[in-house]
Amino acid sequence: MMVSTTDLDRAAALLGGARRIAVLTGAGVSKESGVPTFRDPIDGLWAKYDPQQLASPAGFRRDPDLVWSWYMYRLDLVSAAHPNPGHQAIADLQDLFEGVTVLIQNVDGLHQEAGSRDVVELHGNIRRFKCFADCQGSPTPIALESIAYDKESAPACPHCGERVRPDVVWYGERLSAEAIGRAVDVAARCNVMLVVGTSGVVEPAASLPYMAKANGGRVIEVNVARGGITPITDVFLEGLSGEVLPRLVEALQA
Ligand code: ZN
Repeated sequence: MMVSTTDLDRAAALLGGARRIAVLTGAGVSKESGVPTFRDPIDGLWAKYDPQQLASPAGFRRDPDLVWSWYMYRLDLVSAAHPNPGHQAIADLQDLFEGVTVLIQNVDGLHQEAGSRDVVELHGNIRRFKCFADCQGSPTPIALESIAYDKESAPACPHCGERVRPDVVWYGERLSAEAIGRAVDVAARCNVMLVVGTSGVVEPAASLPYMAKANGGRVIEVNVARGGITPITDVFLEGLSGEVLPRLVEALQA
């Protein structure tokens, strides 16, 4: 379904008066770049594993090499992917507004690759690694380039010998207090929050549009289907972010 020009103009008008924009993005945006998400059924070789085994501290403790291989496989997929026009349009917003902060649930780093500068990575980044024991403080980043490793076995932390793991938030783990604190602040202070490609069910991200709204912000949603936050949106733009967002940016430049 095509977004109506009227809805686009309404969204552009709301954005037009804004100084601070928060953009909250989710799985839909990555999916348009061909990056499989945890919501998709796990494919091929990995289908026999439980996602909890592949992405939890307990799973890593049980079989670090299995989890490491899974993340190396996913890292290859992410490295082969490219930002899509939706990522690009979000980065382009920086030229139009004083403050644009992107609150990211995806771990693939594609917003940053598209040029978004002020980002909050709520669930970490699959391209970064850290010590499983956080031996030098939380987190203890480990640059993979600086150590010897292969794709089959989780390497040892050069400081303490514990294994190295991806710097992403796993099942049963808390989001970083710094990231969530920043996200709440950005949500509460924005004039408009643009919610893109997220179903609005995974907490705490799902609460952020409500915080924006409660503090006088307006909410614009771009999604292929109505979801949990649609009832509080001021404008709902139905469609793929890679199609809708470039048109929205165009309408703003008109
Ligand atoms: Zn360590």
